[in-house]
Amino acid sequence: MNNIAVNLQAVQQQIYQAEQQSKRERCSVKLLAVSKTRSANELETVIKQGQIDFGENYLQEALDKQIQLNNSQVIWHFIGSIQSNKTKAIAENFSWVHSVDRLKIASRLNEQRPPHLSPLNILVQINVSLEHSKSGILQHQLMSLATEIEQLPHLRLRGIMGLPAPTTKFSEQQKQCETLASLYNQLKQSQKTIDTLSMGTSNDYQAAIAAGSTMVRIGTAIFGPRTQ
Ligand SMILES: *Cc1c(COP(=O)(O)O)cnc(C)c1O
Repeated sequence: MNNIAVNLQAVQQQIYQAEQQSKRERCSVKLLAVSKTRSANELETVIKQGQIDFGENYLQEALDKQIQLNNSQVIWHFIGSIQSNKTKAIAENFSWVHSVDRLKIASRLNEQRPPHLSPLNILVQINVSLEHSKSGILQHQLMSLATEIEQLPHLRLRGIMGLPAPTTKFSEQQKQCETLASLYNQLKQSQKTIDTLSMGTSNDYQAAIAAGSTMVRIGTAIFGPRTQ
């Protein structure tokens, strides 16, 4: 087996252990393979291992790989920041969008989602670290944006996404993950369709799973360090 396949198995094993340690059900955490900057061949390696959910940040790069792979089993998640001139292609070519942070973008995705496709799954991105460089809404803005998104018939609001500030301190990771988890639980009380807390990267997925993440987004730990 090559490195990528070995890494994928190790990550799957770590997720399983984290589920057990926090007394969570087996398979309660979905693995999203973050494949930005990776070649179609590298994706193919993990597809062969049964990985079907992929997260991409850059639209053109993702569309190129979708054509190269030509595999209708793959589930594509858009996780990068969204400019309004990109919404049409995103609405047409992805099943999930994790990075919705304003109503204008949600409305465009709703209008541009082809009616023959199932509703586009939406996560609202929360800026939990309060870094100015990060996109995402502030916590107190969530309920009103969620209420507006719920009115849009071609979208299905599934939950929230957060990208905690990078830190190797477990207690600091925990604190940010718990903030996101409590926000998620609040949203879940108000809506039956809410079932996804997208939280945790290579750096902090153990803390994220302990706090209640249902989807971890992992790039580096599977594919190795990015050079770009
Ligand atoms: C790149 C990226 C990831 C993956 O980060 P790794 O550290 O490579 O695991 C996760 N989420 C988002 C939003 C990203 O842009």
